[in-house]
Amino acid sequence: MTTAGTAPGDGRPVYVVVGAGQAGAAAVTAMRAAGFDGRIVLVGAEPHLPYERPPLSKEVLVKPEGARLAIHAEAFYADNRIECRFGEAARHLDLDQHRLELASGEPLAFDKLLLTTGARARAYPLLDQLGASVHTLRTLDDATALRGHIWPGRHVLVVGGGIIGLEVAASAVAMGARVTVIERGARLMARGTPAPVVEMLQALHLRNGVTFELGADLIEAAQGATGEVTLRAADGRAFRGDHVVYGIGVELNADLALSAGLKVEDGILVDECGRTSHPDIFAAGDVARQWYPERGTHLRFETWGNAQNQGTGVGRAMVTGEPCGFEVPWYWTDQYGHNVQVAGAHEADEWLSRGDPAALKGTLFGLKDDVVVGAVTVDNGREMRPARAMIADGFRVTDRTRLADPKADLRKLAEGRL
Ligand code: FAD
Ligand code: NDP
Repeated sequence: MTTAGTAPGDGRPVYVVVGAGQAGAAAVTAMRAAGFDGRIVLVGAEPHLPYERPPLSKEVLVKPEGARLAIHAEAFYADNRIECRFGEAARHLDLDQHRLELASGEPLAFDKLLLTTGARARAYPLLDQLGASVHTLRTLDDATALRGHIWPGRHVLVVGGGIIGLEVAASAVAMGARVTVIERGARLMARGTPAPVVEMLQALHLRNGVTFELGADLIEAAQGATGEVTLRAADGRAFRGDHVVYGIGVELNADLALSAGLKVEDGILVDECGRTSHPDIFAAGDVARQWYPERGTHLRFETWGNAQNQGTGVGRAMVTGEPCGFEVPWYWTDQYGHNVQVAGAHEADEWLSRGDPAALKGTLFGLKDDVVVGAVTVDNGREMRPARAMIADGFRVTDRTRLADPKADLRKLAEGRL
């Protein structure tokens, strides 16, 4: 192990975390909780304290005064002796020298380093040429800028019918705007959201006056003299509006890892402790694809829950060497005041309703060969914990009527006590 640090060396090891988002903040917290007493340096390109991204497409647009963003208060970092370098990107990683270089040129020596660099919004050059009339959404600064362009009566063209697109559409409606969602594919939220959930969300948007334009492959974007925007699709359709917001997926911030020669295949490949192809470099969060021995595969998730759990698990593993363990994947979305939570895999061959999710209250279970593999709660979040436990345990359904009965206690059922 190299003894390192730009500060006078006192013989204690130095852990550097690159990326001060959800996973980075969770990791530094876990390192201290696990008893690490050396130096911790948290490097973040954004000028803010680490903050939660989920409110950016929701409260920050609609009710910014109520939004709670900071993951920890400022005092937390000083109290836990975490040296913060916010507003400074890392630009080079030298594995042989155990040295990180910041954009300012300052070198930071380390013993172990964690990459929690997350992702950035995938750019759409065809739309970016619209300048001030177009926004995408990944950062707090993006959300703050976007908010100033939506007001009652504005017609917002949302490009990309994924989860960002639909959340922004719901928020823009709540702000009094008219919304058209333009999606290239034949269906919305095609990436990993169960079909019954998509149908329910689409119906909710339609009831709130949103127009959907599916199968629209954009080929042209132009701006009129009065600022009006026109988007044209390959099939001849034209869409006119006042402002454009797009969400067409992400690109991973894996550049540091790639140029350092770490193994990257749709994410930085890491083992069950979050260790990359170099023994002293770790990765977690959106940017990492972790090996799960219990699943026999590498998996990568782009969710808050994964960033929080994996950041915590890998931070702890860097100190204790304990593997992180598998958590059933889970995410939520809030649209028009309704809360939808989705857990597990989506290879279900049958969906069983409990309550009435289509009427916005209940739970859906995804079954494959009678085993619970997925679950969706609609305004019924209290059933998510037992539902995730059922997925984790591979719960086999022997009595469908009981599972479908909202009066049968799901916790007891999951524990085999009913
Ligand atoms: P990030 O949050 O992307 O953080 C990475 C940080 O690293 C960034 O601050 C970046 O600037 C920094 N960085 C990158 N490169 C460098 C470098 N070279 N040097 C220094 N710093 C660097 N998930 C849900 O489950 N539910 C939701 O409701 C939900 N809503 C969302 C709403 C929005 C608008 C967005 C954008 C995401 C949402 N997500 C949601 C997804 C969730 O927020 C992400 O999965 C999570 O933030 C990933 O955390 P992360 O720490 O891995 O990466
Ligand atoms: P998604 O990948 O979920 O959706 C992108 C959508 O845009 C897809 O439907 C995709 O369709 C479509 N698309 C791609 N290219 C084009 C194009 N050229 N023209 C029109 N449509 C196109 O990404 P998002 O941008 O919605 O989300 C970005 C990140 O933010 C993700 O990591 C997500 O997890 C996170 N997030 C999570 C939230 C949550 O969990 N509640 C909320 C908000 C963001 P196709 O499949 O055809 O490529």
